[in-house]
Amino acid sequence: RTAGEAEGFPMYAAARTGDAVADIDTPALVLDLDAMERNIARMAAFARQHGVRWRPHAKMHKCAVLALRLVAAGAVGACVQKTAEAEALAAAGVQDLYISNEVVAPAKLARVALLARSLQQRGGRLAIAVDSPEGVDRLAAALAGAQDAIDVFVEIDVGQGRCGLPPGPEAVQLARRIGAAPQLRFAGLQAYHGKAQHLRSAEDRRAAMAAVLLLVRDQLDAFAEAGLAVPLVTGAGTGSMAHEAGSGIYGELQAGSFLFMDADYAGNDTDPAQPVFEHALFVKSQVISRNARHAVCDAGHKSHAIDSGLPLVHRPEGGAPWRYANGGDEHGVLHADDGQPLPALGQAVWLIPGHCDPTVNLHDTLVGVRGGLLQGRVEELLRVDARGALA
Ligand code: PLP
Ligand code: MN
Repeated sequence: RTAGEAEGFPMYAAARTGDAVADIDTPALVLDLDAMERNIARMAAFARQHGVRWRPHAKMHKCAVLALRLVAAGAVGACVQKTAEAEALAAAGVQDLYISNEVVAPAKLARVALLARSLQQRGGRLAIAVDSPEGVDRLAAALAGAQDAIDVFVEIDVGQGRCGLPPGPEAVQLARRIGAAPQLRFAGLQAYHGKAQHLRSAEDRRAAMAAVLLLVRDQLDAFAEAGLAVPLVTGAGTGSMAHEAGSGIYGELQAGSFLFMDADYAGNDTDPAQPVFEHALFVKSQVISRNARHAVCDAGHKSHAIDSGLPLVHRPEGGAPWRYANGGDEHGVLHADDGQPLPALGQAVWLIPGHCDPTVNLHDTLVGVRGGLLQGRVEELLRVDARGALA
């Protein structure tokens, strides 16, 4: 009763379409489609209300069908982090892709050029970020002779301490260099601060984002003084996007995790300006051993990423939450509060992963369910198209 192959999936899959959720084998990555669709509706309403575009980051879900559904709900396209992610999503029909990252290897830039051409030929587009003159020159060389120019964003480091030029005159010079290459078009600024959004307190996030907005405003002033138009400022993630959206200067939100929501984001203080999203992604596991002190489930850190902390246990049936302790690659050790019962042998245990992006990357398939985790049914299997697309 494994399946997968029957629906065209290459490997073992824990369920088939139509199965009861109760019958999904474990460990399995389960997507609550109802919760996800409510998250999409909230995000669409939020973007509409603020008059900003949204381009959800597909590095999180890595599924072409989800990128397409987000576009159907109003997103302008998808962000990706890697050339191979762009290729995987384009091959499955996604039309408008932005590599929100630097690519400098000539071998990859040759693929970027090919992909840009094939997307343009079918009415789509590819955009990319740069943060160095060398990067611009390499991109221009890879695209030499291209018929249509591609959109290039200048990344500035607004506090994360990762990619990006320091805000200031260098970014203006880089935009000029882009403009001087006939096959490149200066499209605006990539200004993303990935750390601010994970600060626990709403006040700390507000303060960190106020500093980001100051830097971006100064940068825009520098462009204005140089007489160069900045068509778009793009950035933002799930934990901070109210600040970018309300800034009047960001025109596009890249938040990705809002779709699935992980335990890490659930640990943030609520901020009334931010929409509230629900957990839609779960690892279904089951108890394979138990004794008087603890129960052991069949999901360890090969089933979920632990870089942002261990999973929380979700109890759709109600009851005091069990605490999850790492039991290794393939085991989780569950503890109950004093006097509370442990789960029985074979009982389902639902985990909310600490970090959704690297968790999805561990799985070939998402089991999409409708009607809840207790009574629901499997509606579809979703292929993680860009799983492992690191290059
Ligand atoms: N944009 C960029 C450049 C990112 O690196 C990320 C995630 O790390 C995001 C957007 C989306 O952030 P999140 O998934 O936390 O909403
Ligand atoms: Mn993430």
